[in-house]
Amino acid sequence: MNIELMAYTQGNPLIEKYKDITPTDACAIAAAQCYQSTPKTVTVSGCIRHGHESVIEHANFTFLVEGISRACLAQWTRHRLMSYSVKSQRYCRENAIDVVRPDTVSEDDPVWEETVAKAWEAYNTLIQQGVPKQDARYLLPNACCTSMVVTMNARSLRNFLKLRLDSHAQWEIREAAGIIFDIVMEVAPLLFEDLKS
Ligand SMILES: Cc1cc2nc3c(=O)[nH]c(=O)nc-3n(C[C@H](O)[C@H](O)[C@H](O)COP(=O)(O)OP(=O)(O)OC[C@H]3O[C@@H](n4cnc5c(N)ncnc54)[C@H](O)[C@@H]3O)c2cc1C
Repeated sequence: MNIELMAYTQGNPLIEKYKDITPTDACAIAAAQCYQSTPKTVTVSGCIRHGHESVIEHANFTFLVEGISRACLAQWTRHRLMSYSVKSQRYCRENAIDVVRPDTVSEDDPVWEETVAKAWEAYNTLIQQGVPKQDARYLLPNACCTSMVVTMNARSLRNFLKLRLDSHAQWEIREAAGIIFDIVMEVAPLLFEDLKS
């Protein structure tokens, strides 16, 4: 799994007073609008604590996510308030066997290896027979790797992290949540630090 932060809320270099703002500063400016006060990051912490979370919708984060399974994708896309652009299995051919194998299945497990190989073989055979990629893919497993660009605001991301860092979440999406948490703690710690376990 590879997750990179492609972009996040930053200031406008053309306006001096906004040029160096961080995601947290943007939220502080939004919170100050509510109270017609001077922007302070401590106000943002208070807003989070008291559930005034619309304030943190002004900080956005865009990630490139690679090497997750379609099983993980199905869980991730349940988060309706994120924006997704996912590799299309309708238009892109799954050329080589590319799967995520859970640790509970050993590397040389013959059932796993044979089943995955057979699925790809059947997929390629159907395509050779003239079946469109978008239909042949019905034979591919949940383990199949995918990639996407996903954008979310800090409020939606906090909800994701609360649910997916939890021990009840499945290992793969939990791993993704852990990577994302570490990344956003570098660029906007105040918005997420209370979620640290
Ligand atoms: C451990 C775990 C097990 C799960 N098991 C299952 C399962 O067995 N089957 C299954 O189908 N799903 C399952 N889910 C998915 C879960 O039910 C949610 O769909 C998923 O976690 C997305 O969460 P969300 O709705 O809070 O996120 P988002 O869709 O991002 O929504 C964010 C928030 O916006 C609000 N919101 C969004 N849409 C609505 C709406 N229509 N009405 C009211 N409020 C809204 C809610 O406050 C919500 O928390 C599981 C999730 C977890 C973490």
